[in-house]
Amino acid sequence: MTSQVLPVTDDHIHIDPVNGRGLAAAKDFQRLGGTHLFLVSKPTSSFGIMPRKGKDFAPVFDETISVAGAIRDLGLSVFVVLGVHPAEITRIAGTTTLDEAVVIMEEGLSVAAEYIREGKAVALKSGRPHYETTPEVVDASNRVLLSAFRLAAELGCAVQVHAESGPCADLADLGKRAGIEPFRIVKHYATPDTPLTPSMIATHPDIPGMAAAGRAFTMESDYMDENSRPGAVIGPKSVPRATFRMISAGLISEDDAHRIHQETPERVYGVEIAL
Ligand SMILES: [Zn+2]
Repeated sequence: MTSQVLPVTDDHIHIDPVNGRGLAAAKDFQRLGGTHLFLVSKPTSSFGIMPRKGKDFAPVFDETISVAGAIRDLGLSVFVVLGVHPAEITRIAGTTTLDEAVVIMEEGLSVAAEYIREGKAVALKSGRPHYETTPEVVDASNRVLLSAFRLAAELGCAVQVHAESGPCADLADLGKRAGIEPFRIVKHYATPDTPLTPSMIATHPDIPGMAAAGRAFTMESDYMDENSRPGAVIGPKSVPRATFRMISAGLISEDDAHRIHQETPERVYGVEIAL
């Protein structure tokens, strides 16, 4: 088994040449056998932007797309995921009303949808706060999520969801209401109990069991690439490293690895994962 016959896909990673290691982190991923990555846009706060309108998200999306181009020049395949980080609701509502924050975030998602229509990105990102908050904020976030699901149904694309830990089973129903299948909703930082497609942190101990059970899931590092928060997450090498370690230890088979890194992301995102 070498990296030449097995695609290795990180389903959720950030690369930030301004605040982090940038391309050096992408090279680390590649050196360990990583081949494909889903590059996710960062929150507007990482760019010192306080969004007032949907178009205020555009510089963040443009930066993500330009970083994707630079990573492709290294020989990696990059799929761009654009959207509005769920924590934006608290930040934006702090300077306006909750209803206005919902509108601004929905506009941001519409701007992201334009990039998907143009083929510059493959999926939307949305969610609700993963931290303790008020029922009003949860309700407002669910309205944003419903808009994201409706846009995704219209575009025929997937949505990565960042939400509280646990199954988030209600999001499968919310997705169905909007016309999007639960398997096209990817639960970022997932636990195995979700009816959505779980994207598992590479070091999650349940991966071998889920693979043996034939579950459809992906793997991610959620590497943030911020020098100010070096220990915040696991590193950019973690998906290829964990994958090859589990294969050599006999914890997952090569077929399992193909399902995790190729078949599942191809089906969920409607992309081709080729070497
Ligand atoms: Zn992330």
